[in-house]
Amino acid sequence: MLDRKFIIQNLELVRENCSRRGVACDIDRIATMDTERLETLRLAEDLNRQANDISKQIPKAADNAARQALIEQGRVLREQKDQAQKRHDELDAAITDIQTEIPNMTHPDVPTGGEDDAKELSFGKTPKPKFDFKPLDHVDLGEKHDLFDFEAGARVSGAGFYFLKNEAVRLDLALQQFAISLLSDRGFTPVTTPDMALTHILQGIGFNPRGPETQIYSVEGTELNLVGTAEITLGGMLAGQTIDAEKLPLKFCGLSHCFRTEAGAAGRASKGLYRVHQFTKVEMFAFTTPEQSDATHDMMRGLECEIFDALEVPYRVIDTASGDLGGPAYRKFDLEAWMPGRGDAGEWGEVTSTSNCTDYQSRRLNVRYKQTGQKGTEFVHTLNGTAVATGRAMIAIMENHQRSDGTINVPKVLQPWVGKESIG
Ligand code: AMP
Repeated sequence: MLDRKFIIQNLELVRENCSRRGVACDIDRIATMDTERLETLRLAEDLNRQANDISKQIPKAADNAARQALIEQGRVLREQKDQAQKRHDELDAAITDIQTEIPNMTHPDVPTGGEDDAKELSFGKTPKPKFDFKPLDHVDLGEKHDLFDFEAGARVSGAGFYFLKNEAVRLDLALQQFAISLLSDRGFTPVTTPDMALTHILQGIGFNPRGPETQIYSVEGTELNLVGTAEITLGGMLAGQTIDAEKLPLKFCGLSHCFRTEAGAAGRASKGLYRVHQFTKVEMFAFTTPEQSDATHDMMRGLECEIFDALEVPYRVIDTASGDLGGPAYRKFDLEAWMPGRGDAGEWGEVTSTSNCTDYQSRRLNVRYKQTGQKGTEFVHTLNGTAVATGRAMIAIMENHQRSDGTINVPKVLQPWVGKESIG
């Protein structure tokens, strides 16, 4: 959430930013409502003062009639004050509602536009494979080696769920182990997070679990929701806390299951593991000072590249365009892996995403930092990034590492955990 004072003092800038990001927000209403809010606040304070003055006069009243008149006058003033306060609170809540719809400001280097306007920044170390045979997609490869059961998944939990079997289980666990080991060596504290979180934590991160087209599964009659990403639980971990500046940046890598309704995704590529309702992810999350956040963002992008280089998967890095940033991100880099089995002749498919959310999440979650010897506190910056989402990483590995005899090479870095050099 943007700072209210910042919005009101920079209406034009915020309006331009909303239109650049394709978000319709009633910015002008915030300004007019806030003027009225301040007036009602002043009125409530004034009525309260008058009522207190009257209360002080009551003991000094000349007679009972005068005392009763003063009591009545005080009652009317307090009633008026309560009404003004109620109006103030209504306006305050209405402003907050609009405020939460306003997206974060945008890094000046972010390309303007939608999905097709993302800027290609770089490529990974591994070139696209050249096959002298028609490559299979991961679903056919999985069938060949008995790695997945989508039918049983659908029977048990509905379409979009699946069972992993045999080497797919080893591969899934190997990816988690590899990412957690690498990140622990780089100063990230490994954590396993709850797979459920309270509604106000989701809202603080920028999700609207009860909104239309929500991606979130919620437990009816409770404040609990299944998390779509460990970004929610990792960000929520320090909600309401103040951190000493010397401790920043604080870096965590969190392992969780992720659950998504994928509402509105009908028709988009969804074969096999690509777009499912449940998957496992190792997520990076950092709390930083404002001065550290851009460098931390570059560091997270670098780690994502390192992971996919080590997995020997061809990929490209893109700078996401303004209209595709969502609400909280100030800037977002995605890694798209080459998936030879997608479409007619292979396609790029998103495997990771890292965002600098500046103070957009910390303001609502109330996560602050304090410099020693300085008065007051500031909001931290928060950043998140996929280390590995195991389903999509498995697609990229299986489809790029397949050989003409149908066997699949296991990337060297995963072999100790998978326990073999090839599948099949
Ligand atoms: P996001 O949190 O939406 O940026 O997603 C992070 C990563 O999770 C993506 O880059 C994908 O690798 C993976 N992912 C997202 N949604 C799904 C899904 N429905 N099924 C499988 N993997 C997904």
